[in-house]
Amino acid sequence: MPNPHNVAVVAEQFHGSLQQITSELIGAARFLSEKLGTGVSCFLLGHEITQLAERLVHQGADEVIVIDAPQLKEYATLTYRRAVIGILEHLGTPPQIVLMGSTTIGRDLAPRIAAYLETGLTADCTEFDIGDYEHKGKADPSKTGNFKNILYAIRPSFGESLKARILGPWKNPQMATARIGVVQALPLDTSRKGKIYNISVNFKQEDLRIKVLKTVRDVSVSVNLTEAKVIVSGGYGLGEPEGFEVVRDLASVFKNSVVGASRRAVDSNWIGYAHQVGQTGKTVRPDIYIALGISGAIQHRVGMANSKLIIAVNKDADAPILKFAHYGIVGDLYQVAPLLKKALIKMAKQKY
Ligand SMILES: Cc1cc2nc3c(=O)[nH]c(=O)nc-3n(C[C@H](O)[C@H](O)[C@H](O)COP(=O)(O)OP(=O)(O)OC[C@H]3O[C@@H](n4cnc5c(N)ncnc54)[C@H](O)[C@@H]3O)c2cc1C
Repeated sequence: MPNPHNVAVVAEQFHGSLQQITSELIGAARFLSEKLGTGVSCFLLGHEITQLAERLVHQGADEVIVIDAPQLKEYATLTYRRAVIGILEHLGTPPQIVLMGSTTIGRDLAPRIAAYLETGLTADCTEFDIGDYEHKGKADPSKTGNFKNILYAIRPSFGESLKARILGPWKNPQMATARIGVVQALPLDTSRKGKIYNISVNFKQEDLRIKVLKTVRDVSVSVNLTEAKVIVSGGYGLGEPEGFEVVRDLASVFKNSVVGASRRAVDSNWIGYAHQVGQTGKTVRPDIYIALGISGAIQHRVGMANSKLIIAVNKDADAPILKFAHYGIVGDLYQVAPLLKKALIKMAKQKY
């Protein structure tokens, strides 16, 4: 009989709010579990969070296993690792697949769990699928075999010019993390029913070595790049931190707009990391993406190339961004931005 917990998602919540990545992961897990003919299990960890479990069912989980413990009030690597391992031990047979978010927490926790279980982990995936694989394995004959229905963890590779399909059929769980905003969440279905139950875990002394004394919220984290309809981003071409005033001014034309940035601008401390778009920042797909003084390096491009309309302003006619922008303007951004603002006001009034 197939394992009913075959595809598992580690849900992410912060101070009692489920994070967007969780619904996306459940969407991906449903897709995989339907191909496998099994179920989706969700692990929910935290303190005083049991009430969130039903929402996970509405998002597509068949069962939710909750560990609600004061030790899990604040995220800490070792306590959360113990909790996930505790659930896996409780299940007996491990799930075939475990998905987590490529978020700050997921990037910290997933490798710890994979290392503990001595299993593989593919980070930063953009697609998932199920398929077969024949491993001829001349180098290590013990690995040869014909593997059916295994996880295809797909992620861009070689500077995003290729899609790599990464397989680890030798041991379960096959683990992967998904980038935010790239896999589809399912519409919420409040009529869905699922099994919800709590289990407890015995934290060991070694799990409690780190104590979170205080959590200070970085107000800039409220920047919601992934849901913005319009993003106006600034790069190193702004020349100085004050250049972001021009970016903000242009963004102010649109009601639902957010200011983005290249990593070079962020690394120069001109603006907070929460604004960074790209491989090590956010992946975005707004209706309009305006890039001011951004060269269009591959690591930036992968985070915004799926925007519906890309407008780039750059003084260098050979800048890479001008090769993939829908509209490229060659010129000094300080001269172009005010003109662009005037031109966009009409469009903004009509639609944004
Ligand atoms: C592992 C790794 C991960 C990375 N992750 C990211 C990431 O997530 N996001 C990211 O953005 N980058 C990332 N990078 C960095 C990336 O490679 C580039 O260095 C960065 O994107 C460059 O930022 P920029 O375009 O603002 O700066 P630059 O490359 O310096 O480009 C500035 C541009 O501004 C133009 N310019 C200058 N003055 C003006 C003006 N007055 N008017 C108009 N145009 C002007 C120039 O012609 C130039 O094209 C990563 C790099 C690595 C190695």
